[in-house]
Order: sequence, then C-alpha cells, then structure tokens
Amino acid sequence: TSFSYEFDTAVYKGKTSFPTGVFINNEFVDGADGGTIDVINPTNGSLITKVSEATAKDVDLAVEAAQKTFDAVWGLNTPGKDRTDLMNKLAVAMEACADELAALDALDNGKTFGWAKTMDVPLSIELIKYYAGWADKIHGKVVETSEDKFTYVRQEPIGVVGQIIPWNYPLMMMCMKIGPALATGNCIILKPSEFTPLSALKMCTLVKEAGFPPGVLNVLVGYGKTVGAAISSHKDIEKVAFTGSTVTGRSIMEAAAKSNLKNVTLELGGKSPNIIFNDADLQQAVDWSFFGIFWNHGQACIAGSRIFVQSGIYDKFLEKFTEKTKTIKLGDPFASGTYQGPQVSNIQHERILGYIKSGKEQGATVHYGGEPYNGDGYFVNPTIFVDTKPEMKIVQEEIFGPVCCVIKFEDEADDYTDVIKQANDTSKMVLPLLYLSSKLIRGVLCGLLVYGLGAAVFTKNLDRALKTAHKLKAGSLWVNAYSTVNASMPFGGYKQSGIGREYGEEALHNYLNVKAKPPMD
Ligand code: NAD
Repeated sequence: TSFSYEFDTAVYKGKTSFPTGVFINNEFVDGADGGTIDVINPTNGSLITKVSEATAKDVDLAVEAAQKTFDAVWGLNTPGKDRTDLMNKLAVAMEACADELAALDALDNGKTFGWAKTMDVPLSIELIKYYAGWADKIHGKVVETSEDKFTYVRQEPIGVVGQIIPWNYPLMMMCMKIGPALATGNCIILKPSEFTPLSALKMCTLVKEAGFPPGVLNVLVGYGKTVGAAISSHKDIEKVAFTGSTVTGRSIMEAAAKSNLKNVTLELGGKSPNIIFNDADLQQAVDWSFFGIFWNHGQACIAGSRIFVQSGIYDKFLEKFTEKTKTIKLGDPFASGTYQGPQVSNIQHERILGYIKSGKEQGATVHYGGEPYNGDGYFVNPTIFVDTKPEMKIVQEEIFGPVCCVIKFEDEADDYTDVIKQANDTSKMVLPLLYLSSKLIRGVLCGLLVYGLGAAVFTKNLDRALKTAHKLKAGSLWVNAYSTVNASMPFGGYKQSGIGREYGEEALHNYLNVKAKPPMD
C-alpha cells in the first residue's frame, strides 16, 4: 500500500508520496493479518487513504528484528558520535520536507497547516537536534567508595523499547519519544495513533534515508487494543513509554506489570488551572489564556481549561477574553486565516458535545458558544462557561476540546489558600452516581482521576507568583505565560497526570539502565 496526494490549497501547494505498510527493518511490508485501517479527513469525514493494519504478530516480528539490531549493530555497538550524526541527518531530512510534514499533520489531524508549520514541525526538528546533541554525552561516573577503591557507574541503553503515542500532535509526539530513545542507543517499536499515522509513515522514509540501520526504528500502525496491548505486555520489550488518556495509561501499566514488570513512562491527562490575580497585566492574561485553551482546538493535555479569575479583574477579563474568542475563525485547516480546524475524530467531536450538554444540564451558564457547529466535519464551536460549581463534570474532567470554564474567586488571604485548593482539586467531585448504569464503570474511573499536569499564574507581584506557583501541584508551571514548551524543559505530571518526565535531560534517563561496577578486592 502507498499514499500519493497533491496539496493544492491556499496555504500550501505540494505533492507527497510514500508507502503505508508496516515499517520493520527499514522496509514497508503488509501487516501479517492483511488488514487495513481507514484514515479519515476530519474536515469532511472523507477517506484520505488506507494504511496497513499491524497486529500482535507484527509486534513479534518487529521485536525480533529490533533485538537482532540492538545486539549486533546498535546499542553499545554504535558510538554516541555516530548516533549524533545520524540524528542530525534526520533533522536535516525533516527540514527539507518541513512543509510536507506539516501538511500531513493538518490533513489527518485537522490542525491548521499554519500551526503545524510554525509550532509542531519546528519543535519536532528541535527535539531531534536537541537529543542528537546528547547522544555523544551519555557519560557514566566514578564514585570513590574509600581511599583506594572506586565504583564506576555506566549508563546503558535498555534494549527494545515500546512507544505508544496519541493523535493530538502526531509528529511532535513521535519526535519527543524517539529522540531520547535513539540518542541513548535503544531500538524502538513505535505505535502512532490509528487516527493520525501519516506523518509517522513519512518519517520512516526519512529515517531510512538518514542511514539508520534496519531495525532501529520500527513503526506499526494499529489499534490500541491489539498493537498497543501487545507492546505493553510483550515479554521482550523492557520499557514502554505512553502518552494519552489516564484510563489507557492505567491499563498499560497493568499490562506492563503483569507481563515482565517493564519500566513505564506515562504522560497522561490534565485539567490544568490558570490563575489570574487582580494585579495581572490584563491583555497579557487574556492573550495567554486564550492560547492556553484554544491552541490545537483544546486538544492538549496541558490545556488551561479552568481559568480562575480574581473578582477585581473578573468582568474586564471575561469581556476581553470573550471578544478575542469571537475572533476565532473555524474552517478548512488549509484555508488562510483559519484559526481552528475540526476536532480529530467524530468520537472526540461527540465526546466534547456531550460535555457541553452536561455543563448546561448541570446548571452552568454558556457565556459564549455552546451551540453545535452548523456544517460538515468534526467542528466544535469555542465555548466559554461561567457560573460553574466545583462538582460539575465540565470543571472536573478533561474535555480535550475548545471548552473552558471561567471561574471567579475572591481570595484575599495572603497565602491564597482557597484558590490553590480549588486549583489543585480535580478529584472528589465526580460523583459516580451521576452516571446511569451503563456508564457506571467509567464514572467510577473518572472519579479517581486526580490531575496535576500544568498550571499558570498571572500577577505582577513576584512574591505572589512564587508563593502560589510553588503550592500548585503540577509538572509545568508558567508565570505570565501559558503552554510554552521547548526541548530542554522537562515535561510531565504530578499525581495521575503521569509518571516520569519527557523532554529535557530527564527523558534520557527513561531509556537508560544504570550499572554500577563495584570495587574489586
Ligand atoms: P487513548 O489514550 O485511548 O489513545 C492514545 C493511544 O493509546 C493511541 O495510540 C491508542 O491507539 C492507544 N491505546 C488505546 N488503548 C490502548 C490499550 N489498551 N493499550 C495500549 N495502547 C492503547 O486516547 P483516545 O481514546 O484517543 O482519547 C481519549 C481521551 O484521552 C481524550 O479525550 C483526552 O482526554 C485524552 N488524551 C490525552 C492525550 C494527552 O496528550 N495526554 C492525548 C490524547 C488523548
């Protein structure tokens, strides 16, 4: 199977063509069970292409290939300098087709070509370059254990690692995962989301072109319940890294524990608080809060979906924030001027509309939006809720769409106890009893989710910024900004938002075993 497509749009004209098989040993082959997966264009629900569907049998084949390569060619056989060179070649190859990569993400994900080109692709290339820089700097250390004895400590690649990524930033998620794993000398079995496999398949051609040995990176497009589950429970995969929902993360960790107790890194959901104090720079707070929730159509694990605004600035903030939200132009991701494309899939579209409905039913006020989009495609109108109560589903659960709650707080106490408590709390309010019997199990699971991924504080007072920032339980904390990330900044969650950190030097340790060679007598 292969995919050819000609983009002839207002913002991008160009051709793309690449095979869409299961990528094992630097070759595209048909899936062992011969199935295919339909890749759907979320802008209109039409079929873009079919790609080979991998199954558990392909995971076995890929692991075998990866293990051979790890033992004979890659791993400790390839000096760090060579890995640096290969990764830099990959970055150059990505740069040469940056627009094509952006167009592929826009096509199957629905994000705008403009966002993909200016945010996703540059960050993806930055990640590969950043980890290329690390590949020849994975040093051990020497520990002096007594006057005449020492232990040396080596950092060794783990071996064959599994990586399961979601659909919200297809290319960037891939680079965030493969970057540290390649730099440290591991072989990879990567499963892209079944909704957004195109940029990952294109990347396979670039990996091959860059000269990576066969078997270093294997990419298997398949479903979570088959390929994802096979990776998580495979006895010869010693590490699995996952980004996606907390519920799926939990089942991956369970499978990892039950199979071979493999090492697990999880980057999961969030319901991130964004706190705006009376003394904030109003325009700055409006601009970043807007970006924090509406970037990528709200499909971001760090989306600032709960905006707490102090009473003295609340009305002005809401007015300006709403004015800005009104400027959002929904439409074709490839049309100039589009700010928001469709949500990734009909499932997500329906899920978000369900949350909007529940917000209305539970008594919140729709301040802006809230009506279904009038037209084709999986579009959701940007929606602002006010008059919410902490126990409402829209305040407690990850919506993963362009929907936010603007929540007024009074808090005059010096240590801002009340707002910090609310900000840190996404747990006890989801009452399982709200769900009818068929949804009871999901209700119970959601009730157990306690997030801590991102948070932000807007204030001109440094003391207040630090005091509150340190008390917020989140892995990423912005002051007078939102959602800014770069390759060197560790990223991950407190509580049930995850285990371990991606990005930065921290991510390297996810892919290394530490060996201590004790003193000899
Ligand atoms: P998901 O967690 O089910 O899917 C993410 C990835 O995991 C996909 O590649 C999927 O195929 C795979 N997967 C699914 N079930 C699996 C299993 N049992 N074993 C192994 N892998 C499995 O997410 P979703 O269903 O696509 O989206 C649902 C919700 O998850 C969203 O609405 C959002 O709240 C959240 N989400 C979070 C992120 C994030 O970046 N943290 C990304 C996507 C989705």
